[in-house]
Amino acid sequence: MSIERWDVETDVVVIGAGLAGYCAALEAAAKADVVLIEKLPEAGGTSAMSGGLFAFAGTDLQRSRGIEDTEERLFDDLRRVGAYRNEEQLVRAYVEHQLNTYHWLRRQGVVFGHPEASSGQSVPRSHPTKSRVMIDCLVRAAGASPRIRLMTATPVRRLIRDGTSGPVEGIVAQRDGKPFAVRARCGVIVASGGFSRNGKLLETFAPMQVGVNAVCGKGCTGDGLLMAWRLGADLRDMAYVKSTFGNHPDSGSERHLLLFPVYRGAIAVNKKGRRFVNESLSYKLLGDACLLQPDAMAYQVFDRTVMEKTAPGVLTFDFREALEAGLLIEAQSVERLAEKTGIDPPALAATIARYNRCVDRGLDDEFGRRALSNEFGSLVKIETPPFYAYPSVNVLLGTYAGVAVNREMQVIDVFDEPIARLYAAGEVHGGFHGAAYMTGSGLGKAAIFGRIAGRNAARGGA
Ligand SMILES: Cc1cc2nc3c(=O)[nH]c(=O)nc-3n(C[C@H](O)[C@H](O)[C@H](O)COP(=O)(O)OP(=O)(O)OC[C@H]3O[C@@H](n4cnc5c(N)ncnc54)[C@H](O)[C@@H]3O)c2cc1C
Repeated sequence: MSIERWDVETDVVVIGAGLAGYCAALEAAAKADVVLIEKLPEAGGTSAMSGGLFAFAGTDLQRSRGIEDTEERLFDDLRRVGAYRNEEQLVRAYVEHQLNTYHWLRRQGVVFGHPEASSGQSVPRSHPTKSRVMIDCLVRAAGASPRIRLMTATPVRRLIRDGTSGPVEGIVAQRDGKPFAVRARCGVIVASGGFSRNGKLLETFAPMQVGVNAVCGKGCTGDGLLMAWRLGADLRDMAYVKSTFGNHPDSGSERHLLLFPVYRGAIAVNKKGRRFVNESLSYKLLGDACLLQPDAMAYQVFDRTVMEKTAPGVLTFDFREALEAGLLIEAQSVERLAEKTGIDPPALAATIARYNRCVDRGLDDEFGRRALSNEFGSLVKIETPPFYAYPSVNVLLGTYAGVAVNREMQVIDVFDEPIARLYAAGEVHGGFHGAAYMTGSGLGKAAIFGRIAGRNAARGGA
């Protein structure tokens, strides 16, 4: 496609006004004029509805709580969680730029709370923020920059390059129902998020996830991935798209209703009343196992002992609130609980009896469970009424896979060559997470790599 007339000319175009897009735009604006284009009427994307946890290591907030964390430790954890399928150069780039990005975000007005331990972390390093407030800080900072122009309700449709293999020159979007061409003298940054809402891409790359409820930004339709793919971009981590276990089937697509009593002592049983997995594994691996069960659903079954571990106000561990909201099934006996869930009562009773014997012996001879979550927490018997069941299916929160990039965030084609003047950052690119995802590294990656992409694109290099 060639353009006869550009409607607007600028230095850098950023596609997508989520966290990666804002970080890229703000960083690029130190040197260049930027047009930040968002397809929806409102900026924020998945970033604005996320849990707000960022994985940083070696922060003052960690030190003030006596948490010893280092770059090497973060590097080792990220590589291990990704099962060493992630690219060392990208993990290294994350680690080298993370502390700097933590301070940079704080300078934009982002406030972090005390670090929490989360999935895949050997020490507490999830730094919590209020995600909408965090995005609002960046929106304000960008609004105050004379060099950044935001266009909302403007879906980008195509990347434009010079000839069939020349540098990327700009984009064509749809604005007020008409094509709208923007020339980018220095570069285009794709920051358009994941593809959880694109059934065709899921069918092609992650057929197990077709039909799983997606809860994420409405713009997560893989547009940027498709546009870069058309130009020859290589793809990474597409085989590792995973959904998360523990969502209530009534959640809808606007919010999740994830609850994790398994990490406080519950067992997961399928509709036949049988356990099917070591419940201490990560919720993504539990998700893989759940998809293989009848109707791809299960119940997290527990008793009063686990209910007493409820954490008020912590969304995924507030069991009491789930009960009050009518999401939990409650009964005074295992038999009655089975009847209420439709599970065969003798089957559920036998499963619980066998599990309790395992707890007594300290050996789960069925699935090798030894702890409640990761390596933490001792197993507890399910024996004290009332008993509870949380109906649980999977939810697709993100895809964490996509176009290939190098550590400068240049998009790489199928012959391992950079596509000149094309960059990507955030959930749209692959190669960083590998086989699995450490909590906090989705937002961390969007901010860190968004800034790198912005800086490099503004230089107007190759
Ligand atoms: C419920 C939930 C909780 C989460 N919690 C955490 C957490 O606590 N910690 C963590 O690390 N990760 C978390 N994640 C993942 C994390 O939120 C995402 O990985 C991250 O926000 C992605 O940022 P992004 O900027 O790449 O994409 P987004 O924030 O999705 O932004 C992409 C933007 O691009 C726009 N766009 C798409 N196509 C086009 C187009 N054609 N033209 C123009 N604009 C376009 C979209 O509308 C969107 O605004 C969570 C995800 C979910 C769903």
